[in-house]
Amino acid sequence: LGGSISRAIQQMSNATIIDEKVLNECLNEITRALLQSDVQFKLVRDMQTNIKKIVNLDDLAAGHNKRRIIQQAIFNELCKILDPGKPSFTPKKGKTSVVMFVGLQGSGKTTTCTKYAYYHQKKGWKPALVCADTFRAGAFDQLKQNATKAKIPFYGSYTESDPVKIAVEGVERFKKENCDLIIVDTSGRHKQEAALFEEMRQVSEATKPDLVIFVMDSSIGQAAFDQAQAFKQSVAVGAVIVTKMDGHAKGGGALSAVAATKSPVIFIGTGEHMDEFEVFDVKPFVSRLLGMGDLSGFMDKIHEVVPMDQQPELLQKLSEGNFTLRIMYEQFQNILKMGPIGQVFSMLPGFSAELMPKGREKESQAKIKRYMTMMDSMTNEELDSSNPKLMNESRIMRIARGSGRQVREVMEMLEEYKRLAKIWSKMKGLKIPKKGEMSAL
Ligand code: GDP
Ligand code: MG
Repeated sequence: LGGSISRAIQQMSNATIIDEKVLNECLNEITRALLQSDVQFKLVRDMQTNIKKIVNLDDLAAGHNKRRIIQQAIFNELCKILDPGKPSFTPKKGKTSVVMFVGLQGSGKTTTCTKYAYYHQKKGWKPALVCADTFRAGAFDQLKQNATKAKIPFYGSYTESDPVKIAVEGVERFKKENCDLIIVDTSGRHKQEAALFEEMRQVSEATKPDLVIFVMDSSIGQAAFDQAQAFKQSVAVGAVIVTKMDGHAKGGGALSAVAATKSPVIFIGTGEHMDEFEVFDVKPFVSRLLGMGDLSGFMDKIHEVVPMDQQPELLQKLSEGNFTLRIMYEQFQNILKMGPIGQVFSMLPGFSAELMPKGREKESQAKIKRYMTMMDSMTNEELDSSNPKLMNESRIMRIARGSGRQVREVMEMLEEYKRLAKIWSKMKGLKIPKKGEMSAL
């Protein structure tokens, strides 16, 4: 997909005069590419119609930046498809919420349940996991193993075969224990079967979840719409999580899932590990869908706002892919100053959605300052190393003592470092385009 879309846009940008013919050719090619990438036919057709309405050929003729206008229109349309118009139910810390996960077997429910619990636990929640999958042998063991690893309380049974009974018992028990996020993992089937949907309906009716999350494998292809719709018809799906985004699939099916459930995508899974889980961010997702990579906008921004003389050094560091604590420290300084580089880094998916959520800038700044205080208690060796193994227990204790913070906080800061290092490492070997060479959106 990426290739053909890039090619289509490339062709368009090579044309000296953009007229209706070129626009149509370009749209047709993008249409084919999106269909290949599992985006549903109807969605693609609607997008095509909308773009023709938005892109005013007279405007183009008037000499505005033609390429930009068309690219932006395509980008915006895809973003719009991913926005169902209302946010999903969001659990509140300290208030009990029941969240039920549904999806076919192998979609990643059990893995994602733990990731979701772990994500909240790190933020101070009291999550708990209930295994209502009595269909698959070994399901309880898998959940138990995951939960134990993350130190999250769990409930399940080796002998009970009634999923409704277990789900109710688990939810009741964790309500009594004042857990604020009770997560119910359910069974799946290899195919969409009536028995599965009936079971989901019963579990949902008995546990009255505040939120039902549909878990979708990014590689399921055109099946996404029907699958999502089938679940939506039996339970009140309110959010979508797309898994296995670390694989080859671009995840075009997510657009169908949003359309079928009228619910937003809230997280994506990016690996088998517990912390390979990210808050969903529309723009990088669409960039990827279009084959532009997550970093095109980022690179543009560098050229736009970083002083010329600072660009080579920053880009050099980026292409080496070695993210040290010292680089993190420097970027934190920039963010606090909100100088140009700070703005640049706030565009990285990890920085923006996770570290600095919108509307909570004050809190984020305080957190960054806290992290910096801890880093002030580190040795040069520690700051310049890109080997996280160096940070053993005794070093962590020393840093905590030295900065007057808790061991838990130092560990949290190091987690943050690892997360950012991972994003950073994706830029390794990045070919640095010169200004004006970017075909970025
Ligand atoms: P379930 O049957 O829906 O509960 O699915 P599981 O949670 O058991 O996951 C099925 C397989 O997909 C397991 O091998 C997981 O490790 C794997 N998996 C789940 N999420 C991801 C992901 O985001 N990336 C990758 N690479 N693998 C994943
Ligand atoms: Mg499972």
